Amino acid sequence: MRLSQYFLPTLKENPSEAQIVSHRLMLRAGMIRQSSAGIYSWLPLGFRVLANIQRIVEAEQDAIGCQQMLMPTIQPADLWRESDRYDAYGPEMLRIKDRHERDMLYGPTNEEQITDIFRATVKSYRDLPKLLYHVQWKFRDEVRPRFGIMRGREFLMKDAYSFDLDYAGARMSYNKMFVCYLRTFEKLGLKAIPMAADTGPIGGDLSHEFLILAETGESQVFCHRRLLDFKLPETTPTDAKGLQALVDQWTSVYAASDDKHDPVKGNALGTDLVTARGIEVGHIFYFGTKYSKPMKAMVSGPEGGEVTPEMGSYGIGVSRLAGAIIEASHDDAGIIWPESVTPFRVGLINLKSGDSECDAACEDIYRALAGRGVTVLHDDRDQRAGVKFADMDLIGLPWQVVVGPRGVKSGVVEIKNRRSGERQELNRESALARVAGG
Ligand code: ATP
Ligand code: MG
Repeated sequence: MRLSQYFLPTLKENPSEAQIVSHRLMLRAGMIRQSSAGIYSWLPLGFRVLANIQRIVEAEQDAIGCQQMLMPTIQPADLWRESDRYDAYGPEMLRIKDRHERDMLYGPTNEEQITDIFRATVKSYRDLPKLLYHVQWKFRDEVRPRFGIMRGREFLMKDAYSFDLDYAGARMSYNKMFVCYLRTFEKLGLKAIPMAADTGPIGGDLSHEFLILAETGESQVFCHRRLLDFKLPETTPTDAKGLQALVDQWTSVYAASDDKHDPVKGNALGTDLVTARGIEVGHIFYFGTKYSKPMKAMVSGPEGGEVTPEMGSYGIGVSRLAGAIIEASHDDAGIIWPESVTPFRVGLINLKSGDSECDAACEDIYRALAGRGVTVLHDDRDQRAGVKFADMDLIGLPWQVVVGPRGVKSGVVEIKNRRSGERQELNRESALARVAGG
């Protein structure tokens, strides 16, 4: 992609409405644009990041046999009356009337909807377990939308739902998802910490939030220092026992966010207690028959008779993650994207656009990288070097390749690693190999 043609409306100044670094940088890097409070458009650079995050989240869901589908954003109110949540949800729910005066709503979550689909289609215990998910926009009319897309009103969520015959099965689904979340956040370049959590309006009695540590996080978190160093095994056990053991290990030491914090337990850790701020990026719930029972989603059981399946739900804040990753990975000059989600892998800077030799060298490098499947943003603008360097640092691509007249003459280019700041002069082949990686 040529930057001269790319829609990248960067800002030089810090926008005054942005209180935290991710919001500031997303606006300055031309990733998002506010439409109204808590509602944003995703511009091309931001949309590429959002799509990359979504792809990683999807791949990890697929890997545990969770099947992707797509449910609508607009739901009938009647479904929510069945579970008794239509009134209970309160003013956070955006309520809509259609032309026939029917009560509709913009879904803040989808437990009722998936249970409705399930009860109409699944009739026998033989069809269990079922793990289903979608990635869809949600609307919650938050009292205080803020921090850009981190606490939006309209936001993109991956939400999964499990249906099992009994508690043992439901626990297995919960554990699968627990480990899947740890892997997902690891793939996104984040260290997420699972914490015992309150269940809020979703309900239920077993629940964990996944938080990443960041000074600007909205939650206060408390955990044992050791949790920060826990590592996942290379492969996830697939049997119930092995999986439970892994979850037990990750939940064996104290960890809680504000609502669940027990100061006595926390203080007992002494100097091992870490007190920090955190951003909630995922939340999983086991809630048994909270929805299946009132909505009469029954299946025939193995011993005849009817069984009410046990359910769980599992959310990841896909759009919030874009901001959370920036909170965790930036410096004074701008964003530093992890390679897994970066909008482009390489920023190619032409220091003298219009110079035939520099232009040719850039075209050649662009083609060579594209040929290796590397995404490149080529700054071919007629701009001062300083502007180009600053913009490239701001948008945070992991590698920069700098082509200038002097280097072209002696057959070298400069490469810079955005994270370490390390610069190297290399010949064409070495430079290509280095930035292409893999
Ligand atoms: P929070 O405590 O941050 O308000 P929640 O507990 O109400 O979130 P859940 O119902 O657990 O949210 O939703 C699952 C995930 O969706 C959250 O872990 C979070 O990452 C994301 N999410 C929730 N609310 C928002 C929002 N207003 N803007 C962006 N992402 C959100
Ligand atoms: Mg939550």
